[in-house]
Amino acid sequence: MSKEKIIPIFVPNYGCPHMCVFCNQVKITGSNTILPLNEVHETIEKYLTYFNTNEDSCIEIAFYGGSFTAISLDKQIELLKIAQKYKNEKIIQRIRISTRPDAINSTILNNLKLYGVDIIELGVQSLDEEVLLLSERGHTINDVNNSVSLIKEFGFFIGLQMMVGLPGDNYDKSMQTLLKIIDLQPDFIRIYPTLVVKNTKLEELYYLGKYKPLSLEETILICKDLLVISEYYNLPVIRVGLQPTEFIQLGKDIVAGPFHPAIRQLVEEEIYYEIIKEELLNLKTNTNGKTLDISCNNDIINNIVGNKAVNKNKLIKEFNFKNIRFHKSNINDEIIISIGEIYKSICLSEHINKRAVGIINHY
Ligand code: SF4
Repeated sequence: MSKEKIIPIFVPNYGCPHMCVFCNQVKITGSNTILPLNEVHETIEKYLTYFNTNEDSCIEIAFYGGSFTAISLDKQIELLKIAQKYKNEKIIQRIRISTRPDAINSTILNNLKLYGVDIIELGVQSLDEEVLLLSERGHTINDVNNSVSLIKEFGFFIGLQMMVGLPGDNYDKSMQTLLKIIDLQPDFIRIYPTLVVKNTKLEELYYLGKYKPLSLEETILICKDLLVISEYYNLPVIRVGLQPTEFIQLGKDIVAGPFHPAIRQLVEEEIYYEIIKEELLNLKTNTNGKTLDISCNNDIINNIVGNKAVNKNKLIKEFNFKNIRFHKSNINDEIIISIGEIYKSICLSEHINKRAVGIINHY
C-alpha cells in the first residue's frame, strides 16, 4: 500500500466572510497575511526534500485552514495552478482543499475540477441548528445537505469535519450529528474538540462565564462513542484533535479546553480499558494477588497498556492483581486474557458493534 504524505499549505481566513465564535484563523494557521505565492512554492519544495521519493507513496498538497472556496476565484486559481503543476508533473498525486458548506456551488466545483482537486473537506461542525446558531457559523443544516450532494455529483472524494463541545452542544447532539453525517455518506471524517483560542468570541464568552469548555475526560467519553459508531459503519476517522502547531499550545494561544497532543490515543486506550474490564468482570473469578496475561497484536499493545501504563495501573488497582504481563502476538481483532488456567479470547469487533448498536438504538 502506498504511504500518504501531506504537504500542508495553511490558508489564512482572509477569504472567509464569517467569524465563527471559536475561530481565530490567525492563531490556527499562524498567519494573518495574504499567502504569498513564493511561500507556497517554498513550502512545497521544502516538504518534498523530506520525502523519500523512491518509496511507493501518495503525495498530496492540502490547502488547510481558512475557507478555500470563499477566497476570490482569481486567488483560488493562483494557488491551484501551483498545485496542479506538481500534479501534472506527477511529483504529487492529489490536491485537497477544505472549506465551508455555504461556499460551494457549481461554478466553484467546476473550477476545482478544472485544476485537479481530488478531495474536498467541509467544516460541518454540527448538525444541530441551535449549536450552529450559537457558534455563529452562518450556515444551516440545509447548506450542508445541499453542498454534500453537489460535491458528490461532481465526483469528488469528500470528508466532513465535526466539532464536539461547541456552545449549546452536548453528548446527545454530538451522537445525533455523527448519525446525520453517516446518512450523508462521506468518505471520511475528522473530529475536533472545541478549544478556547485567544482573541475569539468564545474567549469572551468563557471569561464571562457564558461558555464552559468540555474537560478532557468529557471529551474522551464523547469521542470514544463517536469512534465506536464510526467503526461500526466503517467510516474512517482520519483525525481526532487539532494539529498541535507551535501557535496553538495550551498556555500560549489556547486559553482553555481539552487540549492534548494525542487525544485519539487517549480515546482508544479508554476503549480497550473498558473492553478488558468488562470481560474481567464477566469471568467472575478471584483476581486477588494473581497475574493477568494479555496477548494482542503489536499494533494495539501500546494503547492497551496505556500512556504511562495508565490502563495497566488502573486494572491492577481495581482487580488487585499482583502484576499484568503483555505479550505481542499475530492475532487480529482479538485480545486474549488469562489468569492462571482461566483463559478468554475477546473479539474486539463484537464489543465495538455491541456498544455501537446500543448507542444507535437510543437515538
Ligand atoms: S468558516 Fe472556518 S475560517 Fe471561517 S470563521 Fe468559521 S472556522 Fe474560521
